[in-house]
Order: sequence, then C-alpha cells, then structure tokens
Amino acid sequence: MTHLTLQAVTRRFGAAHAVDNVDLSVPDGKLVCFLGPSGCGKTTLLRMIAGLETPSSGSIHFAGRDITQLPANQRDFGMVFQSLALFPHMTVAQNVAYPLKLRKMAKARQTSRVAELLDLIQLPHMANRPVTQLSGGQRQRVAIARAIASQPKLLLLDEPLSALDAKLREAMQVEIRLLQQRLGITTIMVTHDQREAMTMADEIVVMEKGRIAQVGKPLDIYRDPVSEFVADFIGLGNILPVAYDGAGGVSLPGGRRIAVAQSASAPASGTDVRLLIRPEDVCVKQASEVPGPNRLAGTVTFIRDVGASLEATIDCAGFTLTAATTPRETPGLTLGMPVLAELPPHACKLIAARATH
Ligand code: ATP
Repeated sequence: MTHLTLQAVTRRFGAAHAVDNVDLSVPDGKLVCFLGPSGCGKTTLLRMIAGLETPSSGSIHFAGRDITQLPANQRDFGMVFQSLALFPHMTVAQNVAYPLKLRKMAKARQTSRVAELLDLIQLPHMANRPVTQLSGGQRQRVAIARAIASQPKLLLLDEPLSALDAKLREAMQVEIRLLQQRLGITTIMVTHDQREAMTMADEIVVMEKGRIAQVGKPLDIYRDPVSEFVADFIGLGNILPVAYDGAGGVSLPGGRRIAVAQSASAPASGTDVRLLIRPEDVCVKQASEVPGPNRLAGTVTFIRDVGASLEATIDCAGFTLTAATTPRETPGLTLGMPVLAELPPHACKLIAARATH
C-alpha cells in the first residue's frame, strides 16, 4: 500500500510556479529524497506535504484520506528542519518530551518513552544536559528523537544536516539511515547534495524548475539518467556533444567516430544528443597499446591523486575526459603523458541535450 500520494500538486507564488503539476507516490517504510538545485521547489513541496503551505491546485492523500486542506498540527507528521528549532532553555530530555507533553501523555509514560528514545539515539547519559551544551551531531540526534517521539507515520526532514561539517555529516547520514530502517518509518528528506541522496535514499526524486525530472532508485538514476540535467546533477560525468545518426555510432567533437551500445532509451537520431560516460568507465591505457575503435589518443593534463582514488583529466584534442581510477590500477601516470582513453561501448549512454531556453 502506498501511504502518501500527490496528484497534480502545484504551488504558484504570483505568476511563478514553485511546484508545477507534481504526481508522486511515496512507498511505505521507504526513505525518499527530494534532490535538486537551489530554487527547484524541494522545500515548497515538502512544506505542502507537512501542511505548512497550501497547494494552489492538486491534492495530497495520506493513508487513503485527502489531507490537502488539513492543518499541519492535525497531520501528526514528525519534522526536522535545517535550523533544528530545539528549545535552548530546555534540557535534552525536556526537548524530547515536549511533543508528548503537548499530547498530554501521562508523566510516567513520558519518562519511559524519553528514556527509550535517548537509548535509540545513544545519548542516555545526556538527558539532563541543556541542549546548548551539545555538539552539532548530538543536537541533530535530539531533533530527530523529538520528531519521532510521538511515533509519527511520516517523518519530514528539510536539509537536516546542512549545518554540519563534512565528516560529521557523512556519519549522520549513515546514522539517520540506520535509524529509519530500524524503525521502518516512511521518511522524506530534502537535500541538494547528490552524494547524501545516493547514500541515504531508497528512491530519489530529482526536481528541476518545480517539476519532477526523474524518480528512481539511486543507482538506476545514476546509470540511466533521462536527460542531461539529471546526468549532470547526479554524480560526475563526461557529457559530450555528439552527432548521432541512429546507426549505433556517434561522432565526437573533432569528428572521431566511436561505437555505442544500442539502447531502447536512446533519443531519436536527428535530436540534440549528448554522450554520457561516467569517469569510472573511462579506462586509461598506455599509449603504446594497440589503438582500437573506441580508444582515443590523449594527453594527461591534470591528476588528482588522493591516495585511495585517482582522477585524471585527459585532453583528447577537441574535448576533455575525466577518468576515475586508483593509483594501483594506473601506476606511473604523470602530467603531460600520452595515453589511450578507452570508452567501452556498453558504458556510453546517449541522452537528450538539456533544453537551452
Ligand atoms: P533551496 O535548496 O534553495 O532551499 P528549494 O529547491 O527548496 O531551494 P523552494 O524554497 O521550494 O526551492 O523555492 C522554489 C521557488 O519558489 C523559488 O524560486 C523561491 O524563490 C520561490 N518561493 C518559495 N517560497 C516563496 C514565497 N513564500 N513567496 C514567494 N516565492 C517563494
């Protein structure tokens, strides 16, 4: 059963469409990320689900009930925002107990529920500490404990990790994901960080200018983006303008022809087409190896070697490729070195070019 469904949901501010005709089903127990660049409508969409914003048109159903006009405080959803909005004058336990108090839960039950939640977020020893004396990550956990205290059926997170530094942020991504899976709570999270979405989500909703550009499992979207916009937004990619005649091959900038695997999702020939190949699919070979149909001569112009991984920029006369490899796989790579960059046909994907208007 699908818990949350959005039908043709639109939100206009004046003449502008912040969210434009969005249809979406959020499956039970899953974590779904709304992902997209700044201003694409992620927060507005989340706020409409929360009941903090009313759609200009369209409807929102939850567990079979139309909640489009239902006030936020009657939806019983848990929410965590970027600012966290913890009460600074209260302790950890008082913050977590707050929604239980609002619901007039008996004092003894409140105490046991708070203890249970503090165990869950691994801060049982900090119950009586003022929240102002916690680290960023600890505050984050308290905000989540407070959001799930009254066992909401839906948890809404709006960029909850954006105030944290990179390392803590990555740790919290794993922590929240594990907690969400353990509780099986349906969760929607807004983020503009594609790595975060890839790490945490069961499903990603990629948004572009108020509309849904693509919905799917993280790796499906990564491997099979429907457009240049999605390909560019999800992960690093080499995206090259190519001439395509529909016959299984393309001409690269500079005129060199290479083979690409046929795919049902390839755009029609004659349309404006791009070739996408992910950096990890570009194989760097010694220049002395036999040239082949999909092997392109180039020169290494930049190397980013961070120990565990290595990224090389290769100038192929007419265009540039990024190859992701490891120092172990490609030992001895140096700046200015001539190489062959192999583009395996199966890893070359044709996608429609981004609309330019
Ligand atoms: P960010 O990642 O920067 O938070 P977002 O994808 O969450 O962006 P929204 O905050 O949903 O985007 O905004 C979508 C569009 O709607 C933007 O152009 C924004 O300026 C506009 N918008 C949002 N709220 C309002 C409002 N209350 N009044 C007028 N315009 C608004």
